[in-house]
Amino acid sequence: MAEFLIGLSEEDATFLARIALAFVVCLGAIIGSFLNVCIYRIPLEQSVSRPRSHCFSCGKTIRWYHNIPVLAWFFLRGKCAYCKAPVSFRYPAIEAITAMLFLMVFQMWGNPAIFGLNPLSIPELIPIYWLFVASTVVNIMIDIDHRILLDRISLGGTVLALAAAAAFPAMHGELSWWHGLCDAMGGAAVGFGIGFAIAFLGERIFLQDAFGFGDVKWMMLFGALFGWNGLLWILLMASFLGLIMGVGALIYNRIKHLSEEGAVAIPFGPALGVAALIWLFWSRRLLDGFAWLREQALLHETAMLYGLIPVLLVMMVWLSIRIVAIRRYNRALAEAEAAEGEVELTPVADETQDQEAPHA
Ligand SMILES: [Zn+2]
Repeated sequence: MAEFLIGLSEEDATFLARIALAFVVCLGAIIGSFLNVCIYRIPLEQSVSRPRSHCFSCGKTIRWYHNIPVLAWFFLRGKCAYCKAPVSFRYPAIEAITAMLFLMVFQMWGNPAIFGLNPLSIPELIPIYWLFVASTVVNIMIDIDHRILLDRISLGGTVLALAAAAAFPAMHGELSWWHGLCDAMGGAAVGFGIGFAIAFLGERIFLQDAFGFGDVKWMMLFGALFGWNGLLWILLMASFLGLIMGVGALIYNRIKHLSEEGAVAIPFGPALGVAALIWLFWSRRLLDGFAWLREQALLHETAMLYGLIPVLLVMMVWLSIRIVAIRRYNRALAEAEAAEGEVELTPVADETQDQEAPHA
């Protein structure tokens, strides 16, 4: 990166950086627009390239200038240009979030190099992490909509992460390809192992499939990408996030008297995905914070060794809360059916399924 800038004045470098940032934001928004298509079509096993985007209401093909990411939604005031049917705010939101994530990746691993400020930047990793944030957005949204985590992301991503670790061992803070690959393989094994153990224990102890196999495979990818240490942190954060979401769902169900469909069992995928994104961007700060606590003797060295215990404890509490919510809902469903036979409730799918979708 530095050689590229030899001969550039400071103003030129700043100008170049601004163009690069604008380009990255546009790229992220365009990719986000494509992710919207993936989120909608992949679970329905439709092609993501054909036909072109069309209005769900009137079926008209959307013109390119009505499909400009983020902006078009505001120009059209959230309505179809032809039939004025409302278009969900979710579309521009996902485009904007993807643009922001692309920019964050670029800033973290690339752009400061243009200014020569960040000695830690590794521009080669930018495409890898772009791919990761995009796939994470897709998986989170599809899990919310359909309780599915895509195999092509979990398994394909793990293969890519192993290859990337060998090609760019700096990803894992290593110098040789062999060490990078070992770290990634170890992380993948730990991710799969812990995920499998939780799924197995959940089934044995609670007699319910509370933790889907889709989650297990996604954890394998996180392990390959961030190492076993990062994976444990992600699991810890995801457990807290899942706990908050689970309590939120309980309160929501209480308020709604369990009579509304959905919203009862929240899948674990979104919590995992958000935790992984937090780790991607703020792992160094989190670890620095803990190192500081240790220096202040506020945290004993061995406390780190027992990191796994709180992870499992929180996970168990979260699982039990979630299962209570599901059982209560199912009981209410059975009672309603027995009493009336006319109340229509949709049974809760309490499992994140794996998907064996054909290639699009
Ligand atoms: Zn329309």
